[in-house]
Amino acid sequence: MVRNCDVLIIGAGPAGLAAAIYAARAKMDTILLDKVNPGGQIAITAEIANYPGAPDDTGPKLIEKMVKQVKQFGADIVRDKVVALDFTGKTRVIKSAENEYHAKAVIIATGANPRKIGCPGETKLIGKGVSYCATCDADFFTDLEVFVIGGGDTAVEEGMYLTKFARKVTVVHRRDQLRAARSIQEKAFKNEKMHFLWDTVVEEIKGDGIVESIVLKNVKTNELTEYFADEEDGTFGIFPFIGVIPSSSLFEGIIEMENGYIKTDNDMKTNIEGVFAAGDIRVKSLRQVVTATSDGAIAACQAEKYIENKFN
Ligand code: NAP
Repeated sequence: MVRNCDVLIIGAGPAGLAAAIYAARAKMDTILLDKVNPGGQIAITAEIANYPGAPDDTGPKLIEKMVKQVKQFGADIVRDKVVALDFTGKTRVIKSAENEYHAKAVIIATGANPRKIGCPGETKLIGKGVSYCATCDADFFTDLEVFVIGGGDTAVEEGMYLTKFARKVTVVHRRDQLRAARSIQEKAFKNEKMHFLWDTVVEEIKGDGIVESIVLKNVKTNELTEYFADEEDGTFGIFPFIGVIPSSSLFEGIIEMENGYIKTDNDMKTNIEGVFAAGDIRVKSLRQVVTATSDGAIAACQAEKYIENKFN
């Protein structure tokens, strides 16, 4: 089926949702596409303490409110997976397996996905003790032990969230200093359930159908240590939070990028006229919900100006 619209937004995280609110409110016929439910990374984030005006919202709660707003302004949220793009014509063509979307302007807000450790056993045991979403899976580890991998804001904040469920949370970090913001570190060091293993990386995750042990290596001494699940527990949780990788493979060779992130100017314009990028997918210095929504708003306003000039 062919669908025509003014603005097509790819990716329904905070950047895409904000773009949809602004585009639809400006009376542009707006389609917001995502291959999964709206939310992006924030849908799997427990606490969003620093998004202005929403100190008590969880990620899913904040997304629910944004989706409601998008619908109120009349944008169409469609679940579909983009497989090909043609940006050569005046009207941009975005293809999924069964549909073709013809848009006057496109906003790319595909964000980023959790980076994997890449060690043996990790992929095999996803959903069987290995999880990238504390909000979704913390409950499974009530009174069990949990290992969090990484030393950034996400690892430490999600680790603290996990202490509400797990009896012990051990943060495994490859250096002897956290990358997380000082304010976040201070809280973590005060939390009695939080423990830290420094200069340590994960070598292997083992288990037959469920996580049973984790092999850790001290990078200074090369010493290997295998931690087994307590016999009574039978398993424990492993939550890797070691950063993200941009979801940009679709745009390789089509749009100018830097290290997998899309280059834009301050108006969110890419090197292709009428194609904008917003949120974590673009080259920028601060990847937060507040900067993603701001990007989305700018991209939508610029898309409106572009359509007015080019099509009217
Ligand atoms: P991040 O800041 O990139 O941190 C990734 C962490 O994982 C770093 O500590 C890094 O170690 C470690 N790491 C990376 N690759 C690794 C590997 N292969 N093996 C072991 N460890 C590895 O990622 P993030 O914490 O997900 O944060 C992403 C962005 O979101 C950041 O800009 C962050 O500020 C922001 N964020 C903000 C908040 C907040 O403000 N409340 C909350 C969450 C996220 P090194 O330190 O040694 O590099």
